[in-house]
Amino acid sequence: MTEPILETRALTKSFGALVASNAVSLDLRVGEIHALIGPNGAGKSTLIKQIAGNLAPDSGEIRFDGRNVTALDTVERAQLGLGRTFQISSLAMEYTVLQNVVLGALGRDGGVMRFWRPVLKDAGLIEAARSALERVGLQDHAATRTADLSHGQRRQLEVAVALTLKPRAFLMDEPMAGLGAEGSRTLTGFLDALRQEAPILLIEHDMDAVFALADRISVLVYGEIIATGTGDEIRANADVRRAYLGEEEDA
Ligand code: ADP
Ligand code: MG
Repeated sequence: MTEPILETRALTKSFGALVASNAVSLDLRVGEIHALIGPNGAGKSTLIKQIAGNLAPDSGEIRFDGRNVTALDTVERAQLGLGRTFQISSLAMEYTVLQNVVLGALGRDGGVMRFWRPVLKDAGLIEAARSALERVGLQDHAATRTADLSHGQRRQLEVAVALTLKPRAFLMDEPMAGLGAEGSRTLTGFLDALRQEAPILLIEHDMDAVFALADRISVLVYGEIIATGTGDEIRANADVRRAYLGEEEDA
């Protein structure tokens, strides 16, 4: 088997007495969508934050593209090609779609926008931004104020921002959150195609989307991975049904 592009080895993180990540080992392989599911508070976002570099693990290791990146910060990891979209949007709502992508190409977010006004005229960056917008189907909205986009379009814009950094793997924390049925369908189709570009570690509550998209699914409960497998394997897994999926089917 080829070496995975992204891997955690026995990643452990506690908040006081709470073990939010308990020796979590998982990997992401080229070409796949690997979904991470589990109840609220299971530690999914905590895991993503450690992989992205926002939160330091107590112990364990994160490997990306064959190297140990555990000591690198978020910007260094992004520059190596670790792309991330956020559970809470980092877009600058009052600026245009194109401006947000240009800023994203610098690894910046809206919070520091005012310091970066000169780059908004940089021809090379604008070119790269336009091509990213085309890739996500937002090319006709380049001049639209970001606040005027639909919720689903903002999610596509966030992916366009991530694309400008030429990611070799994506981390996505609940990209479907807040989308209606149609928005979810559109984004599902989009992510389906995106996996060819860069594999995706996907946290998602929408089980229809998860089972439609994921090549593999890992189930996290109380900070521990209790199972990893294909959709069919996960559906049939007795531990998973007891700990997680079963409760939904009983409802
Ligand atoms: P999930 O994303 O699976 O819903 P989280 O990773 O957000 O779960 O949280 C896992 C557990 O860690 C929860 O019990 C949450 O309250 C706790 N937690 C998350 N972040 C912190 C923090 N910064 N300080 C203390 N506890 C936290
Ligand atoms: Mg979360």
